[in-house]
Parts: sequence; C-alpha cells; structure tokens
Amino acid sequence: MSAHPGKAMIEVEKLNVIFGQSEDRVHAVRDVSFQVPEGATFGLVGESGSGKSTVLRALSGLNPEWTGQMTVAGQTLGPKRDKAFYKLAQMVFQDPYGSLHPRHTVDRILMEPLAIHRLDDPENRIERVLGEVGLGPDFRFRYPHQLSGGQRQRVAIARALILEPRILLLDEPTSALDVSVQAEVLNLLQRLKKERGLTYILVSHDLSVVAHMCDDLAVMNHGAVVEELAVAQLKRHEPKHPYTRQLMVASLGYDRAAVDRFEDFGVESGAPGRGDETTLPPAVESEHNRGP
Ligand code: ADP
Ligand code: MG
Repeated sequence: MSAHPGKAMIEVEKLNVIFGQSEDRVHAVRDVSFQVPEGATFGLVGESGSGKSTVLRALSGLNPEWTGQMTVAGQTLGPKRDKAFYKLAQMVFQDPYGSLHPRHTVDRILMEPLAIHRLDDPENRIERVLGEVGLGPDFRFRYPHQLSGGQRQRVAIARALILEPRILLLDEPTSALDVSVQAEVLNLLQRLKKERGLTYILVSHDLSVVAHMCDDLAVMNHGAVVEELAVAQLKRHEPKHPYTRQLMVASLGYDRAAVDRFEDFGVESGAPGRGDETTLPPAVESEHNRGP
C-alpha cells in the first residue's frame, strides 16, 4: 500500500488522550494507531475537533497526558521529551503569528534553538536555512509583524529545520494563509522533504491538500481513526467509510485556486518542476515585494 516500504520512522499504537474529569471529560483521541515509513508523508484528516492536533501534540511532547505506545526512529517515547528528541522531530503550527514571538527578530527566533542545543556556526546556519525557505539574508532583522503571512510561515519552517530534524509534524501549516500563498508553502515543504529526506505527518481538514502532499492518510472522526487509506485510493474515489466519502464531497472544489497551482513533484514526471529551482519562483518574489 505504501510507496515507502522501509521500516517505520513513527509508530503510534493505541494512543488515547482524555482531557478533564466527570462532566468535563473529553476522550479526544481513541485507540489511534498508525505507522509512518521513513521518507513518507502521512496525512491526518478530519473536521475541526476530531482530535488531529491532539495526536500531534502527544507525539511532540506538548501534551504529556496520554496512554498507549509511541516510537520515533526506534526509540520508545515516554511522557516527557529530552533535548535529543527535538533534534529528531519538530512541529510547525497553523498560525505562524501566534507561534513566533512578536518582539523577537527573525534572527533571534532562529538563534534560540541553536543556543539551546549549543550548535556551532550560528551565523552560517541562519543564512543557510533562510535561503532554503526562500527568504534572503535581509529578512534576518525583521520582526514578525513586518512579514506577510507566507513569509512568517517560512520563518516558522526555518526555525523547525534549523536543528536539522528528520521529522516535521505539520499542524494545518497552510490553513491560516491566503489561498494564493498556500500552494507556495506546500510546494516549499515538498521540496524541503525531497532535499532533506524528511518524514512528515501533515494534519489538515482539507482532503485536497492531503491528496497533493501525502502517501497514506488516516481519517479521524470524534477522536478515532475511521479509515486508513493510500492517497491513490482516495484519488480513485475508493474510500470505504461514509465519513471519508462525505469529507471527499465537501472537499470537491474546495480551494480550487490553490489546487490549480499545485505542482507535480512525482519522479515519474521527469521534467523538473518550478520548485526544483534554486532561485525563488516569481510568485514568491512578488510576495516579498509586498513587504513594508
Ligand atoms: P482538531 O485538531 O482535529 O481540530 P483537537 O485535537 O484540537 O481537534 O481537539 C479534539 C478535542 O479535544 C476537541 O473536543 C477539543 O475541544 C478537545 N481538547 C483539545 N485540547 C484540549 C485541552 N487542552 N483541554 C480540554 N479539551 C481539549
Ligand atoms: Mg487542530
């Protein structure tokens, strides 16, 4: 079923997350199990409140209250994460404005993880990672409010990548962006994955985004996985569970403008896509020019 038959990079087995007590009790994640092979992109889809973010937060250590078993790169995870874990896996959030400190420059935002992990040569690392996400060195001393939404999300991605992790946990990374910018950021993520051999979990409420980005996906409803399928099955309109079919109908025509701008990074296409360029695509430059 998977295009990546290697050993699993991420294994989640019977994950359960319960918030609150008695009447306030919410069973947010119910017996969720899945595996993500190294180098694959695994999608988690479902409507708002279905438990997608809670799965990622449990994996990334942001929520220590869970039961079940989780393994990342062969290491079994406990409730707390050590420093080494964050060199392995990093999270990118939906709202880059909320996740970037408003009074810190891009330079300081990127410096922080380097200082915590005592990595050498921070100047070079910062310039290199900014280049990789399509932002020039002059972005270093800007503040988040001096950036467009797409540029802010590029900074959040740069911050996630600067420790050179092997895994990105992406929680609706483009949902807060204008439709015209969504495809640019998704294409950037595809290019980075290819260049760095990353493994992704991508959370989205949008099946068209998942169909573009992922190999396999799990469909969540009320905290449980109702169906796991390959994107190829989704594209052939073969979901079995009625909830998945419903999501599919709801997604048809959704964000059509963004989908139309998607690029095909499939190896079988032969010709290099725009995203293979080392220079910035024109649309990205125009986004820069919009800056203050
Ligand atoms: P999704 O990301 O799919 O929109 P979430 O994982 O954010 O869904 O939420 C799943 C459920 O868990 C929701 O009912 C939400 O209200 C609840 N929930 C999430 N975080 C908390 C929390 N910290 N405390 C209490 N309930 C929470
Ligand atoms: Mg969420």
